[in-house]
Amino acid sequence: MLKTLIHCAFAAVFWAGIASTSCAESPAKPLAIEDAASVSKAENTDNVRLNSRVSALLQEGQNSLVLSALPSTDKRKPQALQALKSIQARQNRESQALILELSSAAHAGRAEPLRTVLSAALAVPEENTELLALRPLVNEMRLQFGLHGDLHDQMQTLLQRLRALRDNSSLRLQNQQVLHLASLQEQIDVDALLKAESNRAAAPLNEHEQAKLARDHQWRALELPPKTVLLSFDDGPHPVHTPSILATLAEHKIKALFFQLGHNLAEPKELKDGKEIQSPLGRNQDLVRQMVEAGHAIGNHSYSHPQLPKLSLAKINQEIVSTQTLLDLAVPPGPARTAMFRAPYGALNEDVLAAIEQQHLRLVLWNVDSQDWADPSAESIVQRVVKELDHAGRGIVLMHDIHAVTTQALPMLILALKERGYRFAHWNGQALEVPETEDMAAKKPG
Ligand SMILES: [Zn+2]
Repeated sequence: MLKTLIHCAFAAVFWAGIASTSCAESPAKPLAIEDAASVSKAENTDNVRLNSRVSALLQEGQNSLVLSALPSTDKRKPQALQALKSIQARQNRESQALILELSSAAHAGRAEPLRTVLSAALAVPEENTELLALRPLVNEMRLQFGLHGDLHDQMQTLLQRLRALRDNSSLRLQNQQVLHLASLQEQIDVDALLKAESNRAAAPLNEHEQAKLARDHQWRALELPPKTVLLSFDDGPHPVHTPSILATLAEHKIKALFFQLGHNLAEPKELKDGKEIQSPLGRNQDLVRQMVEAGHAIGNHSYSHPQLPKLSLAKINQEIVSTQTLLDLAVPPGPARTAMFRAPYGALNEDVLAAIEQQHLRLVLWNVDSQDWADPSAESIVQRVVKELDHAGRGIVLMHDIHAVTTQALPMLILALKERGYRFAHWNGQALEVPETEDMAAKKPG
C-alpha cells in the first residue's frame, strides 16, 4: 500500500502541467487529509517558507495586474505583454513546485503545509484581484486533496472568492477592485518593472538568483519520502568506469538515473564534419543497452556540457535537442526513456528553463553533491554524502560515472546507506518507485 501511495503521488505530480495522468494501479482519487495533531519546529520553519512563497506569487500577481491595466495606446504595451508571459510561466512553475511539496506532505500525513497555504490565501482582502495568481494552485489543490472539516470550509470560501473575482458579479466588489488597482498603480513603477523583466530575460542570473531558481526546482529531491535516496550519475557513458558502476549497482540490485552527454553517445567522425548530429551512435551504445536491460533510467545532460546560461537561446536548444535525438535513437521506448533533463553545473536562467519546457522535458537537479569530480578520496566522498543525506533526511545524490574514484566510493556508499536504513528509489517509467524494506514488510500486520 505504501509503495502504491508513493507511486501514485509521483505519477500525479510528475506530469502535472503536461497532462492529467492518473495512476495505473488505482484511478486518481483525492487524497484524504486529516488534521495534524501538533506542529513541530520544523513545520514552523516550513510555514514561514511557504508563506513567503505564496507572498511572492501574490506579488507577481500585483505586477501582472498593473501591466494588464496599461491601455493599448501606451507605447510600453508590447513589452508589457511579453513580460506578462514570462511572469505567467514563472507562476505556473512555482505553482507546480508548491503542489508537489503539499502533496508529499499530505502523503506523509501532514496537513499543516496545506493549512498554511490556505490561510495565506484567505488572508488576502476580498477585493485584491491578485488573488487570481493563486488560481492554478488552488484548482490543483481542489483536485488532488479530499479535504475535511475546517480545511474543506476554507477551500470552499477560497473558491467562492476566486469565482467572484473572476466573473465580477458583485458591483460592490468591482468598485473595490478598481480602488485596489488604483492604489497598486500608484505603488508600482511600470518602467522599473519592465526593465527588471527584460534584464531577467537577457542576462545570466547572478549567483544568488541562480541559487534561488535551483532551489525552487529541486523539489523532486525534497519530495522523496524520508530515508529514501535516488542515485544519479552524470557526464557518461564512459567506456571503463560506467561498466564498473553498472556492476556494483547490479550486485546490490539498485537502479539509478544516468544523465548522459550527447557527445559521448555520438559517432565521433560525424562531428568532425561539423554536421548536425543525425543517426550515427558511437561505441557507447552498448553501454546504453546494458543500462536499459538492467532497468536504469536515462536522461539528457546536454551535448557538450556548456554553461547553458552563457549561450543564446538557439544554441541552448541545439544542445538539448541534439542530445534528445541521440537518446531517442539509443534508448528504446520503455521505462528507461525519461524525458528528464539535468542542466550542466545546475546552471539555469529563464532561457534555459524555457528551452527545457519547450522540449517537454522535466528538470531534475540534486540536493546532495558527492563532489566526486573534485575529491580524490573515496572515503571522504562517502562521508560527505552520508552526512548531507542524514542532514536532509532524503535526496537525489549527484555522482559521475566518469571518475575512477566514484567506482571506488560507490560500493562503500551503498553499504553505508543500507546500514543506516536508506531505501533506494528508482524511476519505473512512470514514477519514482520506492521499494519497501524487508523490515517494513515484516512489521506489516498479517
Ligand atoms: Zn555534468
